[in-house]
Amino acid sequence: MPRATELAHLLLRHALKPGDWVIDATVGNGHDTLWLAQCVGPSGRVFGFDVQMEALAATTARVHDHPQVTLFHVGHEHLEEHLPPDAKGRIAAVLFNLGFLPGASKTVTTRAETTIAALEQALGALSIGGHITLVLYPGHAEGALEAAALRDYARQLPGAFVASHFARLNTRRPAPELLVIERLK
Ligand code: SAH
Repeated sequence: MPRATELAHLLLRHALKPGDWVIDATVGNGHDTLWLAQCVGPSGRVFGFDVQMEALAATTARVHDHPQVTLFHVGHEHLEEHLPPDAKGRIAAVLFNLGFLPGASKTVTTRAETTIAALEQALGALSIGGHITLVLYPGHAEGALEAAALRDYARQLPGAFVASHFARLNTRRPAPELLVIERLK
């Protein structure tokens, strides 16, 4: 069984094609950003968001030869106001990899309230057939609250969306989980 982050890639690999527009809602060290840039190719676009300069610096270095990537030093809860006007309804995928930036001081983490605000905007930007993936980290206190809020949010989505949840059960501490939301119509 792949890890939650790998499972997200496996699911999206088949959904994404060259020329697609996608969003990395938490660029972190930029691994997903680079992967997305490769999936959509030079004719696609990748919009990346992060609140930490450290994350954006690492990502800028990683994607320097991929001009299809545009990075914003702003919280994903402001996603809508930073996307070009023609992005609405044409975003093929939005990735969230929540929690702390690996290797950084644990002072900044994603939080339920802002993550849900971003998710609502991401749902509005999504194309028909588009996917949102969220990797949740319920192994720390803030992450457990955030994961619970996101599961509840996903559960009440209307039938135009398919919401799925993947979680490993037999671990001592809660393992990372994957939420996937697909827009059907
Ligand atoms: N936990 C993952 C990595 C997550 S990185 C792992 O272990 O591999 C999460 C990123 O989200 C961090 O770089 C952090 O700065 C960023 N972040 C926190 N709050 C944010 C917000 N409101 N908007 C966008 N990014 C945010």
